[in-house]
Amino acid sequence: MRAWENYIRKVVPYVPGEQPRGEHIIKLNTNENPYPPGPGVLRALREMDTDVFRRYPDPSAKKLTEALARYHHLPQDQIFVGVGSDDVLGMAFLTFFNWEKPVLFPDITYSFYPVWAGLFGIRCETVRVNEKFEINPEDYRRDNGGIIFPNPNAPTGMFLPLSQVEDIVRHNQDTVVIVDEAYIDFGGESSRCLIDTYENLLVVRTFSKSRSMAGMRIGYAMGSSVLIKALQDVKYSYNSYTMDYPSIVLGAEAVKDEAYFKETVGKIIGTRERAKKRFEELGFSGPDSLANFLFVSHERVSAPEIFRALKDEQIYVRYFPTPGIDNYLRVTVGTDEEMETLFRFLEAYLNG
Ligand SMILES: *Cc1c(COP(=O)(O)O)cnc(C)c1O
Repeated sequence: MRAWENYIRKVVPYVPGEQPRGEHIIKLNTNENPYPPGPGVLRALREMDTDVFRRYPDPSAKKLTEALARYHHLPQDQIFVGVGSDDVLGMAFLTFFNWEKPVLFPDITYSFYPVWAGLFGIRCETVRVNEKFEINPEDYRRDNGGIIFPNPNAPTGMFLPLSQVEDIVRHNQDTVVIVDEAYIDFGGESSRCLIDTYENLLVVRTFSKSRSMAGMRIGYAMGSSVLIKALQDVKYSYNSYTMDYPSIVLGAEAVKDEAYFKETVGKIIGTRERAKKRFEELGFSGPDSLANFLFVSHERVSAPEIFRALKDEQIYVRYFPTPGIDNYLRVTVGTDEEMETLFRFLEAYLNG
């Protein structure tokens, strides 16, 4: 071994879902939105002055921060924007989970959390969800160096009521609690309102799911001005220009189009509720999801078997070979037509 190889940082990277390309594929594996971004985004893109690309973008991404501040009724110094919520969350790990006590998160959750902990050398401990995949707030009443969980949780889609989120935040006011609201727009109640009471609460959001902009990479955090300032300081110590010009402009445009946003999110919720019934009729069960995906297990046929059969049909869903959830499939809610194709195949496959 060459000496320098000993000094390479050893990490276990996160494994993102496949991004297959092709015309006839049905892609239900990474929780993207099946609908395009709103007409305002397209217009702004067409009118974009590319001459400004010569210049560095606004490091404070003011235009986007302003739009989000207005949307959430918060002052601008309570909003931090980044390159997708993964960037914001990674920055938050680096900023807030900076002591010896372990950071707590559920054992069944977003698999990026342990990866950031590993990268930054942060101690962490997982807290078990119960057999119904439920998070119990009482399990979070113990010494810790911070807490993070998605609400709704991933990959279960289960929503933790606001009173229970508050219970966790209230009992942990000595550490920073992060609520990852990647899927909150699909029916859950946001913890945004708790920010006014709890200075230690950070709420993180993304444009990747409900706002149809996974490819633009836009995420943000809301919290007390103390938390936001700390995030800014770390960001400016790492890369001042995280947000590029198109993301700032198009992101701000997306936030303005409330009607389109409500319409598409409403359609996805409708499709999801119909899909729940169809899955049930086909012998699937799973937690009651308030996200844009369903987490399902079949009574007879194993998840990896169904996963492979679907893939042969060019229908992509997500399978995690993780103990405890290795007989489940996570299926993103697509358009009604995509779901119809999925269910027609499953009907034939399972009953044929
Ligand atoms: C999708 C997802 C993210 C990351 O979203 P990006 O904004 O695209 O980086 C973060 N947390 C959870 C729980 C997610 O499912």
